[in-house]
Amino acid sequence: MRPAVFLDRDGTLTEERGYLDRLDLLELFPWTVDAIRLLNRAGFVPVVVTNQSAIGRGVIEESFLNHVHATIDARLGARGARMEAYYFCPHHPDAELEPYRQRCRCRKPGPGMIERACRDLRLDPARSVMVGDRWLDVACGRAAGTRAILVRTGHGAHEEERRPAGIEADAILNNLMEAVGWILRTCSR
Ligand SMILES: [Mg+2]
Ligand SMILES: [Zn+2]
Repeated sequence: MRPAVFLDRDGTLTEERGYLDRLDLLELFPWTVDAIRLLNRAGFVPVVVTNQSAIGRGVIEESFLNHVHATIDARLGARGARMEAYYFCPHHPDAELEPYRQRCRCRKPGPGMIERACRDLRLDPARSVMVGDRWLDVACGRAAGTRAILVRTGHGAHEEERRPAGIEADAILNNLMEAVGWILRTCSR
């Protein structure tokens, strides 16, 4: 089993845009490609886990989401970095579209996406880390048995001031590159 770094997408890999419903809104942070390449080289499997209730709300379609992720892959690949996989939750308890209206296990803070990725890709949650800009990302990692880092990009600086009782991060850092530095120093492979 391999160690992974589970990555929130919006506000962690990319600029937070609310619902990202046009490709021209997609913008990786300046350090994102380098951070993923460092994980690749160090033997940590990078995997995106993203809540995309925009699908259940009818704002975007799954085909568009796949196009966004293919575009991220192209930008990473052009500079020698590689994302292993993308997992998304299209559901919401109040989704406008009936097939997506459910209380699922995959919507963060639920652990479902990480659990599925660990089964599919033979990843070891105990040696893995979840990185995100919201406490629900930290809680998701905790629920799945990983370590968890809050980054201050996206909603993170705002979230840092509003920590819910009972949730703690292993580290709170400025951005994904700092998180990767922490992981490479702290976690065994
Ligand atoms: Mg986020
Ligand atoms: Zn779901």
